[in-house]
Amino acid sequence: MANMTPVKTPARELSPEIRSKCFDEVAFAYTDEEAALEASRCLNCKNPLCVTGCPVGVRIPNFIKLLADGDLKASADSLLSDNALPSVCGRVCPQENQCESKCVRGVKGEPVAIGRLERYVADKALYSGSAAPAASQNGKRVAVIGSGPSGLTCAGELAKKGFDVTVYEALHKAGGVLRYGIPEFRLPKKIVDAEIEKLRDLGVKIELDSVIGAVYTVDELLENGFSAVYVATGAGLPNFSGVPGESLVGVSSANEYLTRVNLMKGYDKRADTPVIKSKNVIVIGGGNVAMDAARSALRMGAESVTVVYRRSDKELPARAEEVHHAMEEGIVFHFLAAPVEYLGDENGRVRAARCIKMELSEPDASGRRRPVPIAGSEFEIAADTVIVAIGTSPNPLIRNTTAGLDTDRKGCIVTDEFGRTSKKGVYAGGDASTGAATVILAMGAGKKAAAAIAKDLS
Ligand code: FAD
Ligand code: SF4
Repeated sequence: MANMTPVKTPARELSPEIRSKCFDEVAFAYTDEEAALEASRCLNCKNPLCVTGCPVGVRIPNFIKLLADGDLKASADSLLSDNALPSVCGRVCPQENQCESKCVRGVKGEPVAIGRLERYVADKALYSGSAAPAASQNGKRVAVIGSGPSGLTCAGELAKKGFDVTVYEALHKAGGVLRYGIPEFRLPKKIVDAEIEKLRDLGVKIELDSVIGAVYTVDELLENGFSAVYVATGAGLPNFSGVPGESLVGVSSANEYLTRVNLMKGYDKRADTPVIKSKNVIVIGGGNVAMDAARSALRMGAESVTVVYRRSDKELPARAEEVHHAMEEGIVFHFLAAPVEYLGDENGRVRAARCIKMELSEPDASGRRRPVPIAGSEFEIAADTVIVAIGTSPNPLIRNTTAGLDTDRKGCIVTDEFGRTSKKGVYAGGDASTGAATVILAMGAGKKAAAAIAKDLS
């Protein structure tokens, strides 16, 4: 008999007072009892709509049923054979817009907490040695450029099919945005380490500190024994809007700020970090990146953190849960405002942002109402740090060093739906071809490209 409780089994969280001062993970994992209770809410539908909402097609009722039956090992095996990074997805996927938004239990109450169950099963498997079995080698070599979720997924899928896979990563640690962007309090780095270790167990080799386009070109990889190359270099180039004063000391992109905090261990009291201690921080933007930057700045000791967003709270692109957590922690939101100038002191350091109030008019191309400045409504917010989080684009290095690789006007690599590019033997996916998107879409692209590579090389 299914458990017909209309609400999700709640997950415990670290209190806002404690968590706003440390980088510990905010949401606790389900206990065994909580996981069993929530798993029993799944109806194991014959036509599971939840699966249609998952970009990588995880057989959701399958792993939940096995969990409800008490067979954790089989549940983990099922999950791992569908998703290369389930501990990551269980934490950062926007399930509310994907699998959970389609779950039939959501019609008369709350959907099954698929994300929390995924995290529970995946975490148990991470530390129990449960992994998808490695296949026998087929002797064909594939190079993957970039070790973010797209590259790692493609690499894992190909290794499972018997390919000899080498991942080239520009940074000194693997993981892409999972490593340098998403903060510890949402995604502990030990989870990323453990997920990557599983891929190494499958035989995937990872070459760090290897900027492709500089150490080797894509063509050189193809000439040097790789039968295919998958480009998964992400969209790590920060956008700026050209507001006067952007070059003042104390104004940086969210990518730079988060990289310093995450990759250079600014969150660890024992590590040296070049992040300057800030008093008043302003974050420009309203997406997940803005929320991560704002909440990180708070944890780095800022006295006040204000998010300035040019539309209203209804248009905020960040996940509702992240906004809720940010507000609970004391982040101030200034809606319907945008910076027009950053003002500096006599040392060239930012001291304030001059902003203008906005109002919303007709919807623009994105379907959201267009913000329009209200003349004469300028005001100042004092700040010694400004973090700009208004989007990112693909880095131009690969397209500038690879002849015959078509890109669109935004610099994204053009592919067919399976990741094939205009250049033979070269495939691409994730943020490098879509522009900044989500972990699961990047993973979906990696999975599709792996299937295409395997087919084309068979
Ligand atoms: P990336 O993760 O960007 O990885 C690309 C990798 O390629 C990097 O490691 C980079 O160093 C490497 N690289 C680049 N150029 C080269 C080169 N020339 N040679 C070798 N290596 C190279 N999505 C969600 O679903 N949920 C969230 O909660 C969420 N939060 C986010 C928070 C932040 C702060 C950011 C920045 C993004 C967030 N996203 C979130 C988006 C998500 O992380 C990305 O869509 C996803 O990581 C894209 O994966 P990818 O593999 O395509 O690229
Ligand atoms: Fe379970 Fe909901 Fe999926 Fe049905 S739609 S199988 S209830 S998670």
